[in-house]
Amino acid sequence: MRADLLRLLAYARPHARRLALGGALAVAGSGAALALPVMAEHAVRAFAEHRSPAPALLLLTGVVLAGAALTATGTYLLCRTGEDVVLGARERLVARMLRLDVASVDRLSPGDLLTRATGDTTLLRTVLSRSLVDTATGALTLVGTVVLMGVTDAVLLGATVLALVVVGAVLGLLAPRIRRAQSEAQEAVGEMGARLDRALQSFRTVKANGAEGREHAAVAFAARRARDRGLTVARWTSVSDVATHASVQLAFLCVLGVGGARVASGALDVASLVAFLLYVFYLVGPLGQLTEGWIGLTGGLAAVGRLAEVADLPGERPGPASAGAVAVRGGLGVTFTDVVLRYPGDDRPPAHDGVTFAAPPHGITALVGPSGAGKSTVFALLERFYDHGSGRVTVGGRDIRGWPLTDLRAALGYVEQDAPVLAGTLRENLRYAAPDASEEEVREALVRTRLDDLVDRLPAGLDTPVGHRGVLLSGGERQRVALARALLGRPRLLLLDEVTSHLDAVNEQRLREVVRDLADDATVLVIAHRLSTVVDADTIVVLENGRVRAQGTHADLLERDALYAELAATQLVAAATRE
Ligand code: ATP
Repeated sequence: MRADLLRLLAYARPHARRLALGGALAVAGSGAALALPVMAEHAVRAFAEHRSPAPALLLLTGVVLAGAALTATGTYLLCRTGEDVVLGARERLVARMLRLDVASVDRLSPGDLLTRATGDTTLLRTVLSRSLVDTATGALTLVGTVVLMGVTDAVLLGATVLALVVVGAVLGLLAPRIRRAQSEAQEAVGEMGARLDRALQSFRTVKANGAEGREHAAVAFAARRARDRGLTVARWTSVSDVATHASVQLAFLCVLGVGGARVASGALDVASLVAFLLYVFYLVGPLGQLTEGWIGLTGGLAAVGRLAEVADLPGERPGPASAGAVAVRGGLGVTFTDVVLRYPGDDRPPAHDGVTFAAPPHGITALVGPSGAGKSTVFALLERFYDHGSGRVTVGGRDIRGWPLTDLRAALGYVEQDAPVLAGTLRENLRYAAPDASEEEVREALVRTRLDDLVDRLPAGLDTPVGHRGVLLSGGERQRVALARALLGRPRLLLLDEVTSHLDAVNEQRLREVVRDLADDATVLVIAHRLSTVVDADTIVVLENGRVRAQGTHADLLERDALYAELAATQLVAAATRE
């Protein structure tokens, strides 16, 4: 709790002056109200002594107006600070999320992260603009009221202290319970986001498997959990509200009894008793503020804790500083020497268990092997999505760990297995790797990947939206968009993960030619499931169970590697059946 409070203060620190000013104005506004019983006392006394109450009433009106103006300005400043803090927290959180280590994100749920960036940050605003100030204003006004009560009549103050003790005890007892329930409620909302995100991300799979009911039940279960925890918070909050009001009423009765007796005995005048009773009623405000502020603060601290969990996740190591844009072109050869990689949190044998191979700077190197052999893992290591344990990986003769991460990724073009396309227009997708690409360059990439016909047929051409994850395109079109995007980035090392699997024979042949052209000036690494792709390669690396079995040319491997011969035979059969 203390750590979260410190974190909350760290969020507020850049806005400390405005927060302090807003808080001071809000407190002054509440303080002005404190003067009301004193004025009322004067007015009553004026009536009793047959003097004109006008000056007291005028002053009273002035104080009320000034108090309202101060409160309004203070509240505005506090809300503005709250908004600024939320903005800062969101900016930092999103910047952090996008720079997280891939391995950390593998274990997180995007829906939960989304709730943290939207819902939990919103709680910060409530905490700063309301709860923190409510707690401070409530506490200060309470102290002020108690002091004024003591000045008015010390005996009557004794009777009211009882009420304060009851409220204090109730708060002390309930605060930890409320905090826990609030934290669980926010977790449940995060879980609901995660479940809903899962269903929406796989919308077609959900429908195809008739799983709408099950997905709905899972989301509803999380929603119900959030509601149950919300009810727990409501229960404890209402107990604390009732306790506050009841104790004030108790104090009122005590003051009326003791005060009445003191007036009868002449120890106290009626005006003082009236003022004191007003103070007692006045206690409801600060006490309510204090309890509500405290409850809000505990909820906000739970949110701060959830934001901190993301901030504490490991970020990507950027590597050495980049020397800026390097105009050098040409291929970047790759070597793997005894590379071992076990995916974080994976108990199975390592995905790479001593991988050794070399891909020359020019030409095509194909990676083949059974499913799960570790082919995509080669690409994941080259993109530095994961860090290998032992062994050495070099790109362009330089240890991969010595590359500035941004330079490395800028030199690489990666077309992933499922050719992801982002929601947005075709143009946005094509320019994703090279936002400054000219229209001619875009056109050239379209022609090379045979997308020009498609674009000419589309009503809005390049400005046509492609839908969420590119669902408005066919599988083959998505693959070509992904390839065109990679080409526009002018990569020196192109990583193609079975890029032609969805293409018809004509398009496949065309893209093979494009890749072949590219290989003159760049290194191309291709994960191949089709024999046609493999035959095209200058060198072939055969992987099995996280190791390299053999490396060579097609003819050479057919002769000396049984697994390769078998793969080639089955792929040949598959190709023949298809054609
Ligand atoms: P395919 O041809 O089916 O795509 P592949 O040869 O490309 O297979 P990889 O994706 O490199 O295989 O996977 C190698 C092994 O690592 C597999 O056993 C896989 O289950 C595991 N693996 C892959 N990615 C991860 C990950 N992010 N976390 C844990 N294990 C993983």
